[in-house]
Amino acid sequence: MDYSRESEVLGMIATPSAEDQLDFLTKIQRLFNESDFSSTYKYALLISLADLAIEHGKDDSSRLEISNKTIAERFIELYWQQSSPYKTSKANESGVLFQNNGVQAAIVKSIDAFRQGNRFNSPSSAKGSKEYERLVAAVAATVAKQPINYLQNVGGATLPFLYERNSSSITLKNGVAYCLRRFQPLIQQLARNRWTDFIKRNTNNAPILGKKDDLNSFLFETSRKTLALVCKGLKEIYGNKCFYCNKTSSKLEVDHFVPFSLYPRDLMHNFVLACPTCNRSKSDTLAANIHLNKWVELIAKNSDEIVKIGNEVGISANLETTMAIAKWGYEAANKGGGSGWIKPGEYSNMAQLRSGQVEIVESV
Ligand SMILES: [Zn+2]
Repeated sequence: MDYSRESEVLGMIATPSAEDQLDFLTKIQRLFNESDFSSTYKYALLISLADLAIEHGKDDSSRLEISNKTIAERFIELYWQQSSPYKTSKANESGVLFQNNGVQAAIVKSIDAFRQGNRFNSPSSAKGSKEYERLVAAVAATVAKQPINYLQNVGGATLPFLYERNSSSITLKNGVAYCLRRFQPLIQQLARNRWTDFIKRNTNNAPILGKKDDLNSFLFETSRKTLALVCKGLKEIYGNKCFYCNKTSSKLEVDHFVPFSLYPRDLMHNFVLACPTCNRSKSDTLAANIHLNKWVELIAKNSDEIVKIGNEVGISANLETTMAIAKWGYEAANKGGGSGWIKPGEYSNMAQLRSGQVEIVESV
C-alpha cells in the first residue's frame, strides 16, 4: 500500500483510498483463514498492533514505528490474567490454559514464573523494576522470533502487507496504521473469537476447561471480583453517586465510559460509576458531550487516585492512553454520524461533538 509515497514526498500525507482499505481487509481475512496458527501469539500480535495504532498512530497514511519492547509490554498485559489458573483439576495441577499446541507457550511460562517469583500483582505495578525489565526483554525476544517473524506468512507464501522488520522494532507500512485504527473493533473481535476457539480446540485444555462456560470473559475481561474492588475504590473518590444522573444509589455499577464494545480493553481511567438505569440505557453508545466534558475534567483531576486503584487491583492505568482512545472513538463516531447518549431516551447528534474537547486534558 505504498501508493501515497508520491504525496509524501510532496509533504502531504493522504489517506488510503477506499480500494486500498478493501485490499487491506481482504488481506486481513486471508491472514485469519489461511495462516498456520500453532499458538495464540499471532492473535495477540494483531490485537496489540491495532491497539498501538490507536494510541500512537494518526488518521493519515503515514508509517508508524513500534519497538519490539512496546509490543512485548502489550503481550504481558494480554497474557497476564491468562497465565493464572483457569480452574485447577487433577489432569493439570497448575490449571493454566495451554496457549500452544504441544508444550506451553514460552511467554506464558515466563509470565507465570515472574508472577510466582515476585510480589507484583499487575504489570503496571511491576513497571520500573529490574525483574520486570528482564521479563519484557525475554518476551520481546520471543515476539521478534515468533509472531513478528511469521505473521505475514499466509497460505504458504509471504504477504508482507503490514510491516517491515528492523533490528529491534517494526515499521507499519504506509496506510496500515490508518486501516488498523479504522477497523480496530472488527480486527479485535475476529482475533478474540479465533483465540477463544483455539483454546477450546486444544485437546490439552479439555480437562482444564470442563463444563465451565465463561472462557471468553476469563481470557479477555476483568473478573467480577476485580470489578467489585474497582467499584469500591471509585466510590471513595466520587461518593455513592451515578456519574451520569448524579443521583445517589446503593446499586452503583462499573461502566466503561468509552464502551467496551468499541474498545474491548480495560483501562482504569475509563471506568465510571453508574446507576443500573443509566448503565442499561447507555449500553454500547458513546456518551454525549455534556458527559464527555465532565469526564475529561474528573479523570484529569483524580488521575493519581485512579492510578493507585489500578495498581492495587491490577488494571492498566494511563491517562494519556485513555485520552487517545477517547479521541479516536469520538472522532470515528463523528465521521460515522453516530449519536451521543444524554439520558434514558435522549440522544444528541454526534456532529455537535467536537473531538477537540477531548484535548482539554493535554493543557491540564
Ligand atoms: Zn444514573
